[in-house]
Amino acid sequence: MERLVVANWKMNGSIKLVQEFHSLQNNPKTTTIICPPSCYLPLLKPSSFKLGAQNCHQAEKGAFTGEVSPAHLKELGCQYVIVGHSERRTLFQENDSLINQKAAQAIEHGMIPIVCVGETYLERQEGRFKQALLAQMDRALHNLDSQKYVIAYEPIWSIGTGLVPTNKDIEEVLEMIHARLGRSAKIIYGGSVTDKNILTLSQISNLDGVLVGGASLNIKTFQTIIDAF
Ligand code: PEP
Repeated sequence: MERLVVANWKMNGSIKLVQEFHSLQNNPKTTTIICPPSCYLPLLKPSSFKLGAQNCHQAEKGAFTGEVSPAHLKELGCQYVIVGHSERRTLFQENDSLINQKAAQAIEHGMIPIVCVGETYLERQEGRFKQALLAQMDRALHNLDSQKYVIAYEPIWSIGTGLVPTNKDIEEVLEMIHARLGRSAKIIYGGSVTDKNILTLSQISNLDGVLVGGASLNIKTFQTIIDAF
């Protein structure tokens, strides 16, 4: 099984980092996807990796000052686009219905949306995380073909915190998502993945890969994560 290793640089990085990433080495067992800030997309020359975006607008074009459309991303060589990241949900008030429109537009333009879902700390503590995840998925993936997207399971309490669920906890969620969407649905995990915990996470047999935030900003660390598979 080929695993996806996705780098989400968020609003970080520089031209210098872009240049460094040109020496990233491919692992034949993985597909590596770099998602830089969109202004750097034309500077990244995909060789050992593919290009992805961190967000897109739900319309193809129009009077939406400051936005980037799926058509633009496609033209720049993006094959993937992250939608519904928890930072977009929390800081930019994106809801599942909007995320569903963005994912549909990405598919329409020949890209694979990486649709993020994840429970809050309270939902996990109170044992409500399964319902919360299923509700997000039912709305965000409404009417989408499960062969045409990737789910990123990203517990909100794990993003940027150093807290990582146990493999058993992740397996339980994978099981639930597969039961809902079918065995062939692709699911990756994101939340404080580092070069230190990747060997443990890579033991999860039906996990299709990882989404890496902070640890993707250092080429050495990120290379170790790719090489762990
Ligand atoms: C993310 O941004 O999707 C993420 C998982 O971040 P981090 O790896 O820094 O927790």
